[in-house]
Amino acid sequence: MEAIIIENLKDFGEPSEFWQYFYEITRIPRCSTYEDKIREYIKNEAEKLGFQTEVDKIKNLVVRIPSNRDSEGNKLGVVLQSHMDMVCEKNENIQHDFSKDPLKLKTIEIENERWLTAEGTTLGADNGVGIAYQLAIMKKIHDGSLDFDTLNLDLLFTVDEERGLSGASQMDKNLISGKYLLNLDSEEDDRFTIGCAGGRVFKVEVSYERELLSNQNLKAIKISISGLLGGHSGGDINKKRGNALKILTEIIWKINSKFNILVNSLEGGNLTNAIPREAHVIFFIEQSQKNELEAFLNEIIPNIKNLYEGTDSNLVISIDLVRDFTDKTTFSKDFQNILFDLFYLLPNGPISLHPTSEGLVHTSLNFAVVHTLENIIEFKVSTRSLEQYDKDTLFEKLKILLKMSGLDIIIKIVTIYPSWPPNFNSKLTEISKHVYKNLFDKDVIIQAIHAGLECAFYSYYYPDMEMISLGPNVLGGHSPDERLKIKSVAKIWKFLIALLQNLN
Ligand SMILES: [Zn+2]
Repeated sequence: MEAIIIENLKDFGEPSEFWQYFYEITRIPRCSTYEDKIREYIKNEAEKLGFQTEVDKIKNLVVRIPSNRDSEGNKLGVVLQSHMDMVCEKNENIQHDFSKDPLKLKTIEIENERWLTAEGTTLGADNGVGIAYQLAIMKKIHDGSLDFDTLNLDLLFTVDEERGLSGASQMDKNLISGKYLLNLDSEEDDRFTIGCAGGRVFKVEVSYERELLSNQNLKAIKISISGLLGGHSGGDINKKRGNALKILTEIIWKINSKFNILVNSLEGGNLTNAIPREAHVIFFIEQSQKNELEAFLNEIIPNIKNLYEGTDSNLVISIDLVRDFTDKTTFSKDFQNILFDLFYLLPNGPISLHPTSEGLVHTSLNFAVVHTLENIIEFKVSTRSLEQYDKDTLFEKLKILLKMSGLDIIIKIVTIYPSWPPNFNSKLTEISKHVYKNLFDKDVIIQAIHAGLECAFYSYYYPDMEMISLGPNVLGGHSPDERLKIKSVAKIWKFLIALLQNLN
């Protein structure tokens, strides 16, 4: 369909302040770690209207809108928060310099709904909508069309959410204060998030000695796993998708226990926050055993594929003879026996489910990466849990498993971050449900998610602060398909104002 590039967002509905700010924001470069210009813009807007601002050491910004009551009156601290950076992704055929070019906005219609999107690039609705809501509220308080006289509002704008939450994790603890925090970084207008998983990613280094192959006539065989969907190691962990490393190590364990093989190398996975889609192993076997091996694999592979029918139907398990393979070194037989026992036993996927919230994973593990190096096998594991206690318990068990293997092992923590433990009955959750129902005559969905959010750090630093995360409908986030449902902006605005009035 034809789309027209638009220069202003004037007929987009209420509040017009939101759309004016949103338009301005799309003209300011703000890829992660390059937030200087957007921070200056917000700071200037606030100071122009007479509000105080503060920037902390990692360059988060806060705008303070104090209650206009005297010091005797009751006041309530509320924080409204968004992140200043955006994911900068573009289609290959598009000329766009994210360090200076304004985004080219257009509207599209899908099933009678109007959406705002950007030509060939991400739109930055994640999290430009949060910034625009905050600035619109600031403007309306300034011109007197909104008045929350008992509220001390802190408008918090963080840096570098998209690359690793470093703005939230390293923020100055004195930057904000309040009883409630509203995070404006969610993307569905009929559900609020009230909790998320924390995580621990660790790397294991297993020392070993390589051996020279004594029988040079053995054949090199490569077994590869491919065609899997993969996905996010938190958000997609409950989808019963195949993990290439788990499938591969299951096969190689079975082969190793039945045939006389010597393994050259094992490789798989890439990122710790992704379910591995590909993996392979190379091993040596007698020519005379090759047919028997193939018959054995033909027997077990259909059983394995059966496990993923419907969730990962394109799984490919291929067996190839590697001709002229020159690296004639291997693991020792004893070492590979123990290593494959360990990998075969290593838990993976959801470990437990939340007791009351249907479909919510409580604790999980992703066997993410394996590399064969000269004298070290390196592997990475990512664990997540809604509760700190469970995250630690899982780690203790994994350490026992590693210790019991008797292998020469060093464990290195890669990252560790707190959870935002969900409280389905917090006061803020109750008020939010009530306000939503009153406005829209419908129940809002209250959810926790199995991935990391900035709120995890706020809940860790300010354990008494109650929080929810909300926002209008955004689809295709982090990709050039990112689009914002125009009507949804007014809905969340209406809710936000009603909630603040209620807290007031
Ligand atoms: Zn975001």
